[in-house]
Amino acid sequence: DFSKRIEARQTDEVGNLAASFNTLASSLEAVDQKRREFLQNVSHELRTPLSYMKGYTEAILDGVARDREASLKYVSIIHNETERLQRLVHDLLDLAQLEGDSYPMKDEPLPFAQLISEVADRFELSAQQKAIQLVRNLYDEIIVNGDSDRLEQVVSNLLDNAIRYAPKGKPIRIILTEEGPFAVLMIQDFGPGISKEDLPKVVERFYRVDRARSRKEGGTGLGLAIVFQIVKKHYGELNIESEEGGGTTVVVKLPLFE
Ligand code: ADP
Repeated sequence: DFSKRIEARQTDEVGNLAASFNTLASSLEAVDQKRREFLQNVSHELRTPLSYMKGYTEAILDGVARDREASLKYVSIIHNETERLQRLVHDLLDLAQLEGDSYPMKDEPLPFAQLISEVADRFELSAQQKAIQLVRNLYDEIIVNGDSDRLEQVVSNLLDNAIRYAPKGKPIRIILTEEGPFAVLMIQDFGPGISKEDLPKVVERFYRVDRARSRKEGGTGLGLAIVFQIVKKHYGELNIESEEGGGTTVVVKLPLFE
């Protein structure tokens, strides 16, 4: 129980010590509170797909699905929810590893433009389905230090979001430049943007501006939290510039290879 406080009115060393203890107790309490919130979120996120799966399985078993078509519809819902659970567990494990200190991260020189291009290629199909053009403007010479799988994951999560939240027909710009000792990757979309109030929270685990929309589009609410951890582990910076109605630009800065 971290809520206990030491009473101390003295202004001497004992008083100072008591004050330090109280500050420490408050921050432990805050950590504990975050941990509890996280567990609540995880439970909730796991429970939702599970209850769909249970409900539709029971409907089939009880003979509610009258014909083959109805059964197939139910099975396909169960399948979707299974996939959602799979993504969720995968992202959770990923995040737990990344947040730990012992996670092995490769440290190799990487041609960044090439890595970004390869990831963008994989998104061409889903972009085309929304008539979205991925406009690339990548400075070829840039080399960064890092873990290629993890940096691919950064680009992939960001493009995934941009395509998910951008409207049909609007382009997405992918820009790679150099700025002092940093490589700067910018992914810009012309989607709904993020309000001032929500902006500081979107990198938090499970925070979504529109839960229903994220769920419908298959999001886990962990994408940006994972991006943030990977960028941090590469001694980089993550900035999100966005305005409600004005699109979003995610900026990733990574130290250049030296
Ligand atoms: P999700 O799986 O829900 O996309 P993320 O952690 O990737 O989870 O993002 C958290 C939330 O931030 C999203 O639910 C969405 O509300 C908001 N968001 C992220 N990227 C964008 C974007 N490009 N445009 C608008 N909103 C975004």
